[in-house]
Amino acid sequence: MSAILIKNCAAMLTGARHAPRSPARDIRIRDGVILEMGELTPQADERVIDARDCVAYPAWVNTHHHLFQSLLKGEPQGLNQSLSAWLAATPYRFRGAFDEQTFRIAARIGLVELLRSGCGTVADHHYLYWPDMPFDGAAVLFEEADALGMRFVLCRGGATQTRGLESDLPTALRPEKFDAWMADVERLTAKYHQPGTQAFRQVVMAPTTTLHSTTPQELRESARLARSLGIRLHSHLSETVDYLDAARAKFGMTPLQFCAEQEWTGEDVWFAHLVKLLPEEIRLLGETGSGIAHCPQSNGRLGSGIADLVALEAAGVKVSIGVDGAASNEAADMQSETHAAWLLQRARKGMLAKPRYEGGEFEGGGDAATIEDVVRWGTAGGAQVLGLTGTGTLAPGQAADIALYRLDDPRYFGLHDIAIGPVACGGRAYLKALLVGGRVAVEEDRIPGLDLAALGRQAQEAVFTLQRRAGVRG
Ligand SMILES: [Zn+2]
Repeated sequence: MSAILIKNCAAMLTGARHAPRSPARDIRIRDGVILEMGELTPQADERVIDARDCVAYPAWVNTHHHLFQSLLKGEPQGLNQSLSAWLAATPYRFRGAFDEQTFRIAARIGLVELLRSGCGTVADHHYLYWPDMPFDGAAVLFEEADALGMRFVLCRGGATQTRGLESDLPTALRPEKFDAWMADVERLTAKYHQPGTQAFRQVVMAPTTTLHSTTPQELRESARLARSLGIRLHSHLSETVDYLDAARAKFGMTPLQFCAEQEWTGEDVWFAHLVKLLPEEIRLLGETGSGIAHCPQSNGRLGSGIADLVALEAAGVKVSIGVDGAASNEAADMQSETHAAWLLQRARKGMLAKPRYEGGEFEGGGDAATIEDVVRWGTAGGAQVLGLTGTGTLAPGQAADIALYRLDDPRYFGLHDIAIGPVACGGRAYLKALLVGGRVAVEEDRIPGLDLAALGRQAQEAVFTLQRRAGVRG
């Protein structure tokens, strides 16, 4: 492995809770790991990356995505819908239209967008499964992430139940048999899952939703199998207020109580969304050390609400950030997502402000979340949720997953504190370099060996193909 010295960074955010800023300007990398930080003199065998005008962050860790949706952006029938209607109109209507080629293009687009926003690790909640699938989506995802040099966590989704529509289901909406699904999780774990806190490939047990995808008994069995295999657990939960109604109607309890009864809480569990929670559910999440993948742009786009990260973190919940699928987030990149998280946490708190004559105590949300908080959630928080704690922070001994943003665009002119630019100013910064495990994955804003114009043409063709197959276009 090559020896690299990053020299002259203008500023560094570390992702750590304590000491979120480093006074260091240089980072020495050996064998994929940060060896030292400080003021360092180049050595003869080192490649030097000049990071003048650059801000260094840990590479982002995206903890919730559905990469197949990268070809479903702005799909008109689902554009102005809330969750259930959107699911039927867009992801479910198009899922049977995917074949290996269109799926591969979708995955590549999503991964490339993330990479170009400074993201090094992706957890994809892949639920595009039906009996006798004609292609192996997991293999495609690992291949594509591998080709781009990213860490990849496959959250193997699926369902044995469908909501209504039992008869005459299209093939792509037919549920799997529980035993076949679990056997596939075992196969994938044996084939891909690497142990350790700096793993490049991991597998996670991930029924599509805990409330609706399986029977309670199957859900409990899935948790037990996951723990016997040493893999983590992930699912959607409490994305809208409907989850509270559904859990009460089906099981006579809160969604979180239901999960806890099926052994689906704990240090090894994280849920996407958690927008609508009762106070006792927040407590239960915190007491069990469970985690959240906060997806503010998707929650906004679908009109679902804004998760209360401040209360969740205060209760002991592990907080991370995910972009969710591009069918409900047309800006599926981590710079946009963290920018939104920063603004929306503050807006959320301000919305709760009451006048003093009604017993109000604060004027707004000015202290709800700092840039340092958001960077920590998007880096170290994600690493913690995934168990990849040897990544996600800038410190000696940690994996060299490092994004260098060059802030010489007018967008950043006039900043009093250049360190906050990549999140505070919004938009995508010029990526001087992105390193993942010490390997250069992006250099001078380009991904080596990737023809972006060709990918754009393939995307357009793939969109036409999907539209034809879904009967949108003749
Ligand atoms: Zn999702």
